[in-house]
Amino acid sequence: MQAATQATVTCPKCGHQSKADMPLDACLWFYECPACHVVLTPQPGDCCVFCSYGDMQCPPKQEEKSCCSKE
Ligand SMILES: [Zn+2]
Repeated sequence: MQAATQATVTCPKCGHQSKADMPLDACLWFYECPACHVVLTPQPGDCCVFCSYGDMQCPPKQEEKSCCSKE
């Protein structure tokens, strides 16, 4: 199964939705909303902003790999 590499990120502050490319082998910890410029960071327990605010999980998680595990 091919992992999706693009996700729609919904800004928790202004509700703006934007498409963002997901790196295949890394996690994105910071994402700036293009509308209100708030910088999103992952919620506790999530590995990246896509898992917290995106409509899909990041590629490593889709493939059930441990990605950038913080442990
Ligand atoms: Zn925003």
